Parts: sequence; structure tokens; C-alpha cells
Amino acid sequence: MKPSANPIVIIGAGAAGLMAAAELAAAGRRTVVLERGDRAGRKILISGGGRCNFTHDGDAAALLARFPQRAARFLKSAFYEFPPAEMRRWFAAHRMESVVEPDGCVFPQTGRAGDVRDALLGAATTAEFRTSTAASAIIAAEGRVTGVETSAGRIAASAVILAAGGPAWPTAGATGDGFTMLEALGHTVIPPRPGLAPLHADAAWIRNLQGVSLPRARLMCKSGRGSTSVEGPILFTHFGFSGPAALDLSLHLAETPAEITVSLLPSYTTESLEEQLIAVAAQHGQRRLDLLLKSVLPQRVAQAVLAAVGIPEEVWLGQLKKDWRRAAAVALTAMPVRVTRVGGWDEAMVIVGGCALGEIKPQTLESRKVAGLYVVGELLDLAGPTGGYNLHAALSTGRLAAQSIVEM
Ligand SMILES: Cc1cc2nc3c(=O)[nH]c(=O)nc-3n(C[C@H](O)[C@H](O)[C@H](O)COP(=O)(O)OP(=O)(O)OC[C@H]3O[C@@H](n4cnc5c(N)ncnc54)[C@H](O)[C@@H]3O)c2cc1C
Repeated sequence: MKPSANPIVIIGAGAAGLMAAAELAAAGRRTVVLERGDRAGRKILISGGGRCNFTHDGDAAALLARFPQRAARFLKSAFYEFPPAEMRRWFAAHRMESVVEPDGCVFPQTGRAGDVRDALLGAATTAEFRTSTAASAIIAAEGRVTGVETSAGRIAASAVILAAGGPAWPTAGATGDGFTMLEALGHTVIPPRPGLAPLHADAAWIRNLQGVSLPRARLMCKSGRGSTSVEGPILFTHFGFSGPAALDLSLHLAETPAEITVSLLPSYTTESLEEQLIAVAAQHGQRRLDLLLKSVLPQRVAQAVLAAVGIPEEVWLGQLKKDWRRAAAVALTAMPVRVTRVGGWDEAMVIVGGCALGEIKPQTLESRKVAGLYVVGELLDLAGPTGGYNLHAALSTGRLAAQSIVEM
């Protein structure tokens, strides 16, 4: 697009909007960034427990494989244009080195989320930031964007990048404004629901385990005609489960209450665990079951699960009757749990749902309905799991939209 007298307006100074502003600044484009809050990048600051897990180690294909198929197809251009290694180089060039943790999550070397925000702001210095300024509508005439209505009046725009995020975590400035603006322009918004949120469950055995974490568990739910299982760390809370595996499963729980199964020993199937118990009992019949399990599970967890299915606390392996042995193996590998609800917006890290992907061009992020409007970041219907995937999506779509504007 030829530089015009009117600026490019970015709505929202989160990860996606800031990366877009940085790219436009690098290309010397006049840019105005509207931010409803009093400062930029508030969600970046709280992300990753204040450390900001901004991407995940691997190539573009590996990252895309962690998204639902439709989202992965949509994100292909953005991720191949800006794969993790390239993103890390970009931050390093803006004075922010990063480190890969053993699980593949990538953080700033300093462990400070503020460094991610500062690198983005540093790269976007020529952009004009208008904080405490909320956009209320995007103005279009004859199918093309012409400006933005804001709390401080109307601004003419040569193009608009809508990066207003979704309503997850309202204390960091999240709103549903972006969806209202999109719907007013005729876009379809798939009703958003909270994602990457803890699971509330009504199983009594969980109650006394508050604060206990397991490095690896598998949670499974029915989804559509099949089932979905996720594996990873879990944390028992006073109301149910949190931790990466529980948060990731929340993406797949469209309706609650929902029955899920929990495997506390994911390297076993129910059958292989039963066989193992028989084999150990043959040699060590006088060993207590809960003490045997202590080598693979915190004793409190083993005791709580066994008690929940009516197995006496101090039972020996030799005393395990067939039905008890089966019950123990099921409880440890496929314990049914009723999830009463997924945490609300104040507990959710992302939204599931959002701007229908079919209405946005994946190669440029431009709207198919309104020329000159670009939709990026969490507003798009493409939630991914924990591990840096969502920030990678926000940063790479913000960048691609800016590049598309520059290259037009
Ligand atoms: C607690 C928490 C931890 C997280 N940790 C991670 C993590 O470690 N790794 C990861 O990949 N993802 C993480 N996420 C998710 C990730 O932060 C988001 O996916 C990402 O920030 C989305 O970026 P965005 O730019 O699209 O939206 P946002 O970051 O939400 O930015 C949108 C901006 O738009 C502004 N805005 C809204 N309405 C208007 C308006 N009308 N006018 C002007 N401005 C407006 C908002 O104030 C906000 O600043 C976490 C989320 C939360 C809540």
C-alpha cells in the first residue's frame, strides 16, 4: 500500500498490536496505536507467571501440529513467515536474549516478562501511542476502511489492524470490544468461551489434595464422535484441577458438566497395571499397596484414590482380591471425574471461539468483507495449548498483517 496522508491505526497494544507497530515502524510507516488501558502490554507482563513464555522450541510445522486442524491451516503463513528461531533472533536483535527450558518453552533469559514488552516497545518507538483511548467502532465506506471512532474523537485511517484481544482475564484490560466492532462490520463471531482455565470438579477425593502437583498425568474427555486426551503436569486445587494438562483439556470441554477420566499413571494402561500388581504380589505379597505406589505417586494421592474406590488404606498386595485389584487399576489409570464447570473469564488465559477464520485471508490477515481491515491475535478463532503457542500466534499474526500492509 502506498504511504498515504492517513496513518495506519492499530487498535490494542497487546502482543499482536505491539509487534505490528514494531514492523510498521521498521518500514517507516506512520502509525497510531490506540490502547484502552493506561499502558501497553499488560497481558504480556502477567503471562507465563511473570516470565512470559512467548514461543515454543521447534519448527513452524511442530508448533502448528499443536493447534486444532482448522487453526493450523489458517496460521501456516504466519508461522512459516515467523518461526520460533526467527522470533528468538528478532528479540535478540532487540536486546532480549531467550532461553529454552527442558520442556521446550521459551522465556526471556532474564526471566522477566517486562523485557518482552520493552523489546516490542523499543522497536515501535516511532509509532504514536494513545493510551487511555478506546476504539468504539471501525468506520468503512464502500467496503473499505476509512477510520476509527474513539473515546477521543474520530481518526482517519489508511488501514486498521484490529488487535483488541478477547475478554479473558479482564483485570489485564481484556474486553469484548473487538467482537462488537467486528460484528458491526458484518463479521461472524463464534461465541467465545473461556479457555486454558482450571477445571472445577465435584469429586470428594480431590478435596484433601489441594496444592499437590504431579509432573505427568493424562486427562481424557469425549469430544465430538471421538475422544481427546492431553498429557502433562497437573495441580490439585481446592475445587478441582489446574496445571498445564487441566488447562489444555479445558479447550475441548465445550459443554459442562462433563465426564472426564484421569490417569495418574499415564505410562500404564489399566490392563498393564493390573498385570504389574499381580506380578509384584506374587513376589512381595506382604507389601502394602499404598507404599508400593509411593515410588510413582505422592502417598497422599495414592491413598485418596484408593479410599475413593473403597480399598482399605493398609491393604497388602497379597490381600488384593481380583475385584479390588481391578478397581485399584481403574482408579489409578482411568478414574472417572465429573467436571462441573470450566473456570470463568477471570481465570481463563485465552478465549475459545472468536472471529470466524473463513472471513479473514490467512496469507495477509486482511478481512474478506472490509478492505484495509486486518484482524490479528486472540480475536481470531484459533486458541492453542499452554506452552507459548498463543503468544507465538499473536506475535506472528501481528507481524504478518503489518508486512502485508507494507508490501501492498
Ligand atoms: C494470566 C495469563 C497468562 C498467560 N501466559 C501465557 C504464556 O506464558 N504464553 C502464551 O503463549 N500465552 C499466554 N497467555 C495468553 C496470551 O497472553 C494471549 O494469547 C495474548 O496476550 C493475546 O495477545 P493479543 O495482542 O491478541 O491480545 P491482548 O494481549 O489481550 O491485547 C489486547 C489489547 O487491546 C486493548 N483493547 C481492548 N479493547 C480495546 C479498545 N476498544 N480500544 C483500544 N484498545 C483496546 C487491551 O487493553 C489490550 O491491551 C496468558 C494469558 C493470561 C491471561
